[in-house]
Amino acid sequence: MNENYLTLRFWLDLIMAQLLWSSLIWALVNVLVGYSIGKKRGHPVGACVLSLIFGPFGWIFAAIWQKSIRTCPSCTEQVRREARVCRYCGEQLIPVPAEGGCLAALAFLLGTCAIVATFYYLFNPHDSGSVRAPVASPVSGTSEQLQQAPISKNQDVASEPPALTHEIDIAVTIAGEDAVKIQDGHLWFEHISAMHHAMPSGILLNGKPWQPSWHGRTSSSFSDFQPPLAPFPPSGISVIKLAGRDTVSFDSPSTANHQSLSIDIVDHPVGSDRYEIRVHW
Ligand SMILES: [Zn+2]
Repeated sequence: MNENYLTLRFWLDLIMAQLLWSSLIWALVNVLVGYSIGKKRGHPVGACVLSLIFGPFGWIFAAIWQKSIRTCPSCTEQVRREARVCRYCGEQLIPVPAEGGCLAALAFLLGTCAIVATFYYLFNPHDSGSVRAPVASPVSGTSEQLQQAPISKNQDVASEPPALTHEIDIAVTIAGEDAVKIQDGHLWFEHISAMHHAMPSGILLNGKPWQPSWHGRTSSSFSDFQPPLAPFPPSGISVIKLAGRDTVSFDSPSTANHQSLSIDIVDHPVGSDRYEIRVHW
């Protein structure tokens, strides 16, 4: 719990307190306005309740609510509209029909719509507009990323051909004669010279060390090329000796050798030497 968090809590508490006080004052204002409107029309309690629930819409509703009282022209006291005799002075009165029913219904409808719209805005996260958008929860952020990830992946696949390895750099220490074989995405060594000559050692494939196991003259095969090896073309394979004191030769893949590339490394002088070979197609 750090200082920033405590500062944030302080401001949140302050805002919540402010909202609470604002709500209470707003409720009080509504009660007073509703009461003052309703009193003149003979329905103060109803007007209070309406104003409390609907706010300014309640005021309008209360104001145009069917007016149930009027002023006696003789004594100026408030009497019911239907009254034929003033209950204060006994004056004969002509009953007046009620008014404002349609407008009241309209105000009630508008008020209800306003309340529903407000609650919908506050509690529906999808349709809350730009005000609530910046405070999106981590969950929605994650779902957004999850939605975007496959799209960008698909775009990569669509815009670029799948990447495959078209080049292998082989570095190896040779004593005598050995061969590198590449076929169907696999690479392995074959020991050609006498078995008392050292096996190929210090192997690097595209700069990464590889230590094969041996079964007689044949090594285990390596196929973990990232990305996988592209298939050999019918022609145009180049094998270049970058380092090494003696001879490197190769047989191109063909139907006769089942599309395998065979690279012969011959190191005649005594001892061994380091060979670096680049295969490209
Ligand atoms: Zn009167």
